[in-house]
Amino acid sequence: MNTTSCNDILTLSARRRSNVVKEVDRIKKNREERRAKQAEQIQQKMQEADGNHPQWEFLNMIREYIEVLDFNPLNLSDQVYDHQITVCVRKRPINKKEAGKRELDVLTVPNKDTVLVHEPKLKVDLTKFLENQQFRFDYAFDENSTNEIVYKFTAKPLVDSLFQGGMATCFAYGQTGSGKTHTMGGNFNGKNQDVTKGIYALAAADVFKNLQKPAYKKKDVVVSCSFFEIYSGKVFDLLNKKAKLRVLEDGKQQVQVVGLQEKNVTCRDEVLKLIAHGNTVRTSGTTSANQHSSRSHAVFQIVLRKKASGKLFGKFSLIDLAGNERGKDTASANRQTRMEGAEINKSLLALKECIRSLGHKGAHVPFRASKLTQVLRDSFIGDKARTCMIAMVSPGMNSCEHTLNTLRYADRVKELGPGANDDK
Ligand code: ADP
Ligand code: MG
Repeated sequence: MNTTSCNDILTLSARRRSNVVKEVDRIKKNREERRAKQAEQIQQKMQEADGNHPQWEFLNMIREYIEVLDFNPLNLSDQVYDHQITVCVRKRPINKKEAGKRELDVLTVPNKDTVLVHEPKLKVDLTKFLENQQFRFDYAFDENSTNEIVYKFTAKPLVDSLFQGGMATCFAYGQTGSGKTHTMGGNFNGKNQDVTKGIYALAAADVFKNLQKPAYKKKDVVVSCSFFEIYSGKVFDLLNKKAKLRVLEDGKQQVQVVGLQEKNVTCRDEVLKLIAHGNTVRTSGTTSANQHSSRSHAVFQIVLRKKASGKLFGKFSLIDLAGNERGKDTASANRQTRMEGAEINKSLLALKECIRSLGHKGAHVPFRASKLTQVLRDSFIGDKARTCMIAMVSPGMNSCEHTLNTLRYADRVKELGPGANDDK
C-alpha cells in the first residue's frame, strides 16, 4: 500500500511536473508566437512606411547598401595624429525641418575616417540608381559626435602647438545650416547658444589649463583675445561696437589690422563673456542671424604675448567661415549680393591655396587675393604654422550637391599639389 501510494505520489508529481513543463512550453510558445507576430507587424509597418515614403526606392537602395557595412565609429580613446594640415568632416543629424519633409539621409559615416555619399540619380530612361561616392579624411565625425570629441581631434592639438610658439588656424567650412556655428560657437538650445560647449571656449579653457603647467609657466606669457568679422571684404571689430578697421601691409609684408581690440583675459569665463558679447554685436541690427552670418567670416583669436616685451609668442585663429553656397548669388538681380558672393568665392579659393602652401617654402601664395587670407597671412608662414579644416555637411538629400562641393573642396585642401614633393 505504502509502495503504491508512493508510486501514486511519484506518478502524481511526475504528472504535475509534466504539466508544469507543458505550461512552461506553452508560455514559451505563446511568447515566441507573440514575438514573431510583433516582428511581422514591424516588418509590415516598415514596408508600409517605405511604400509611403516619397523616396522609398532610394531609401531601400541606401538600406541595402549600408546593411553590409561594418560600423566602427571614432572613439575618444583613438589616436590623435600630429599633422601640419588636418582635414576632417562632420555630419550633423537630420533636423526637425528635414524630418518633417521626410528628407532622405544620404550620408553614412561608417568609420573614423570615411564618409559615403549615396547620391540619388536617374538614368536617361528614368530608372533610379544610387551613385555611392567615398571620401577619406584624417577624421570623420558622425551625427552622434559631440563638440567635445570633435574638439579633441581638431583644435586641441593646435592649442598645444601654440605653447611651442606656433601659429595655428582652425576653420569651419560648409554650407549655411551645416553646423559651423554650432561647432565653433556652441550648441543651440532654441535661440540660445551655450557658448561653453563651442570649440572657441574649449580651446580657451585648455589655454588656461596649459598656463598652469610648470613648463609653460616659466615662459611668462599673457593671454588676450580679439574677435572680428569680415563682411564683403571689410573688417569689423566685434569687441568694439563693430568699428570698421583698416588693414595695412608694411614694407616687410607684415599685415596689421589697425586698431583691432585685443582684450586681456585671465580665465575661461572672461573669454566666454567676450564671445557672447561678440556674438550679439555680430548679429545686432540684422533681420536674420543666419542670413548675415552666412555671408561673413567670423574670426576669433587667442593671442599669447611675452609679458615683459609684449612680443607675439603664439596665435590661434578660429574661423567660422561664410557659407560656401554661392551659386544663386551669381544670378541675383542685386548687384551688392553678386559682389558679396564673388568676394566670398574668391576668399574660399584663396584660402584653399594658402593652406596647401603650408610648409612649402617659396611657393607662390595668393595671400592678397582676399581680405581673409591677407589678415591671416602670418598664420600660414613658417614651419610652426599648423591648420585644421572641419568640413561640415548636412545629411539631407536636398543638400547633396552642396555636400559634394564641400567634400571635394576639403579633399583638395589636402591633396598633393604641385611642389608638394619638394621636401623629398
Ligand atoms: P551654420 O553655422 O553652418 O549655418 P548652424 O551651426 O547654425 O549652421 O546649425 C544649423 C542648425 O543645426 C542649428 O539649429 C544647430 O543647432 C543645428 N546643428 C548643427 N550641427 C548640429 C549637431 N552636430 N547636432 C545637433 N544639432 C546641430
Ligand atoms: Mg553660422
